[in-house]
Parts: sequence; C-alpha cells; structure tokens
Amino acid sequence: MKTLSLLLFFFTNITCKENTTVYICNSGNAKKYHYISSCRGLSNCTYKIVQSTIDKAKKEGKTLCGWEK
Ligand SMILES: [Zn+2]
Repeated sequence: MKTLSLLLFFFTNITCKENTTVYICNSGNAKKYHYISSCRGLSNCTYKIVQSTIDKAKKEGKTLCGWEK
C-alpha cells in the first residue's frame, strides 16, 4: 500500500511539471498545444503531429487548446 501511494504521489507530481509531454500540429504556425494526441483540436491537423514539452511550447508562445481548458 505504501508503494501505491508513493506511486500516486509521483504521478500527480509529474503532471504539473514543465516537462509534461504535449502535442503540437507541425504546420509551422500552430498556436496551440494539446495534452492528448487524440484531441479534437488536433483531428483536423493535416500536418505531422509532433511531441514537445509544455515548457518548450509555452516558450514558443503557444497556448493550451480551447477544447482542453
Ligand atoms: Zn487539444
């Protein structure tokens, strides 16, 4: 049980970290990042969907997708 709570603590912790994986439509002018690759905001992306980190996405001036707010 102790291991489980430690694991849960670890998980809740990493979701808040800046190296959280996000998904970006690699169109060159995408302004949004997504937490889930199957997001409806990405479903109409005709370019390649690339993985990035939330920190990097924010530094590039991207904001969270409107569907995931
Ligand atoms: Zn999204």
